[in-house]
Amino acid sequence: MSSNQHYSFFHSVERSFDKAAKFTKWDLGILEQIKACNSVYQMRFPVKLDNGKIEVIEAYRVQHSQHKSPCKGGIRFSDEVNQDEVMALASLMTYKCAIVNVPFGGGKGGIKINPKKYSTYELEKITRRYTAELVKKNFIGPGIDVPAPDYGTGPREMSWIVDTYASLKPGEIDAAGCVTGKPVTQGGVRGRTEATGLGVFFGIREVCNMPDVMQKLGLTIGVENKKVVVQGLGNVGYHSAKFFREAGAKVIALAEYEGAIFNENGLNEEEVFQHRKATGSILNFPGATNLAKNSDALELACDILIPAALENVINGENAPRVQAKIIGEAANGPCTPEADEVFIKKGILCVPDMYLNAGGVTVSYFEWLKNLSHVRYGRMEKRFTENMNTHILSQIEELTGKNVTESERKFIMHGPDEHDLVHSGLEETMINATREIMDVWKDNPEIPDMRTAAYVSAINKVATSYAELGIFP
Ligand code: NAD
Repeated sequence: MSSNQHYSFFHSVERSFDKAAKFTKWDLGILEQIKACNSVYQMRFPVKLDNGKIEVIEAYRVQHSQHKSPCKGGIRFSDEVNQDEVMALASLMTYKCAIVNVPFGGGKGGIKINPKKYSTYELEKITRRYTAELVKKNFIGPGIDVPAPDYGTGPREMSWIVDTYASLKPGEIDAAGCVTGKPVTQGGVRGRTEATGLGVFFGIREVCNMPDVMQKLGLTIGVENKKVVVQGLGNVGYHSAKFFREAGAKVIALAEYEGAIFNENGLNEEEVFQHRKATGSILNFPGATNLAKNSDALELACDILIPAALENVINGENAPRVQAKIIGEAANGPCTPEADEVFIKKGILCVPDMYLNAGGVTVSYFEWLKNLSHVRYGRMEKRFTENMNTHILSQIEELTGKNVTESERKFIMHGPDEHDLVHSGLEETMINATREIMDVWKDNPEIPDMRTAAYVSAINKVATSYAELGIFP
């Protein structure tokens, strides 16, 4: 595109949708309804800054689909926020939730500010006022629309939101479920921090466990000993690398914005992270080779490439030089449509972002369930399971006359806590979603790539929901 002036992110999502819709059998009317953004709330409100001046803030909340309630999606604080972008992101949330069977419609919010330019107190005032505006218009609530963190927001902002909501809705017993991504002390769930990276790992591991897929790619089954390259050592990249390494894969290269490092025997992400913290750079890590450019890491010979930093890093220009067999899109939009075309030609399997990085929203769903049930995961069964396991083990030891090792005993007796259950729920979710997408693809070999298959899977689920719901007259 020669200029960004006429580029619409929302239209580009619609184009991807249309491309996939061709592989479905749904009525045009239903497809049009799925694509449409149901409710768009654009607001302006004043905030008094620390210097006494008043600034008018522009903000949005979009509810793309109510085929399931509530709507779900993050809130972004960024200078770049605009209605088109929030609409696009809200619609992507509908498809993402459908793919991973999280029973929510898509939503997204945005406040057009650069959070770095405001004091903590100003940010608190903006967040609380935004929440109050959402309450006024019935645009937030555990059964209506449940925001979460996105660019520029985190647990702190979610705390302000839940506190404002609860104070405006006295006595609402489920108030904590009005937002997710809260600190654990405020009703958040354990296991959220690593959720996206762990989901990336579970998704790719499932792909690697599919004999037909591996055979086509010329790879052995399983992640063990696979050579992995990770771009970005932030939240998602760090945890993806950690779970791959723990599963026996070799993370042969890591890239950060200042450069990339390579060691064919494998790198330990925590040691690299500490080295970067101490020296300010990923480079010169003991035992590793520095690569000339950080983007060189993307072109290394490896089995699995995980871009976990930015969008558009693999494009028409460098895609022909990518040597990985599998690309796991941990970041949002790391590969351009031109890159997708190259991957199809080269037989590279690109595992798409919309489903692969859905660990965050999946665990958000668990947080919301926890809030509605008013009980921590594991509280009811942990002790019971431990007592039962102890009993079973002692019976086995008595009957066989043999004792298990201390570490085995600890492992067998352990009853599940919140971490265990959240991880297990995420594992189940990612395995199922992977299989469903692959089944859609197998059923229709005309579908060009896994991204389109993921869209088809999403469209089928949302359309079924509309068809079974009937359209309210
Ligand atoms: P983050 O800010 O924690 O990490 C990003 C890292 O990438 C940073 O360490 C940054 O220095 C590095 N980076 C920047 N430019 C780079 C470059 N050119 N080369 C190599 N590294 C570079 O962010 P995050 O939360 O890990 O998110 C990463 C991506 O994953 C984003 O696209 C985000 O939208 C997506 N994502 C995140 C989540 C989540 O739960 N955090 C969920 C879904 C999708």
